[in-house]
Amino acid sequence: MIIDGKAISQAVKDEVKAEVAGIVSRGERVPCLCVIIVGDNPASQVYVRNKIKAAAYTGMESKLVELPAAVSEDELLSQISVLNEDPAVDGILVQLPLPKHIDEEKVIDAISAEKDVDGFHPSNVAGLWLGKDCIVPCTPAGVMRLLDSIEYDLRGKNAVVVGRSNIVGKPVAKLLLDRNATVTIAHSRTADLGAVCRQADVLVVAVGKAGLITGDMVKPGAVVIDVGMNRNAEGKLCGDVDFASCAPVAGWITPVPGGVGPMTIAMLMKNTLRCYRSR
Ligand code: NDP
Repeated sequence: MIIDGKAISQAVKDEVKAEVAGIVSRGERVPCLCVIIVGDNPASQVYVRNKIKAAAYTGMESKLVELPAAVSEDELLSQISVLNEDPAVDGILVQLPLPKHIDEEKVIDAISAEKDVDGFHPSNVAGLWLGKDCIVPCTPAGVMRLLDSIEYDLRGKNAVVVGRSNIVGKPVAKLLLDRNATVTIAHSRTADLGAVCRQADVLVVAVGKAGLITGDMVKPGAVVIDVGMNRNAEGKLCGDVDFASCAPVAGWITPVPGGVGPMTIAMLMKNTLRCYRSR
């Protein structure tokens, strides 16, 4: 069975849209997301455009701050500080990656934790690991929503996460742990990736290597969630999971495109609304 991220993300955006309509009808201030983009990386421009489009769909306001690739770190930090202080802005997102001369960690730290819609700020990361109510990064939150959409009960199941980045692998692993799965995190030094993956009732793959996971690495009936976004030789978008060989073995599988990707943007809308409410 295919988990249709496009349809599920649409449902999430419609939930947000309905809430925003309620806010508007009560004559309250409309939530506002501010996206900062530095430079002209074509992939980043597509992501940013889609985020602004999604905000418009939900009825939220949005603000796009475009800065040249040569902008200084100080200038970027001072723009963030202005937005932190702006009472009309609820969420601030700085599109990554940033040019090499800018320290990403410094930039993430500079965003006010209460406007950190990406959930990357150290206080939100700490909150996640301490089990506090906090802003959860969009892609991991989207993965969980996909699992919820098939009403998958994670209790006692073996979950394997391939990839241990701060933005996907680690937070997904913590969210699965919170649902009482038994979680294994695999990475580039994992000795026998196939053997580890074959133990998985739920396999979440976030690596960035097209076709890394093949059908022989999947336990029959497993749920396979493919976070990867790669371009193949023909320039087509593809995941980390070899769909053709894995789909016949898996019980459930997400496609790329149309799986996790649209969920990330939908969960960003949820996070913006959350920041609005808590402010
Ligand atoms: P990173 O490059 O930060 O992390 C990749 C991880 O994969 C690392 O932990 C690395 O291990 C591990 N890895 C690399 N090679 C192997 C291997 N051969 N076997 C097992 N593990 C390996 O990537 P991200 O987490 O940022 O992104 C992962 C993928 O997800 C990318 O394709 C990215 O484009 C996509 N993505 C998609 C999003 C969406 O909205 N759909 C959002 C964010 C990311 P080690 O730590 O040992 O180096």
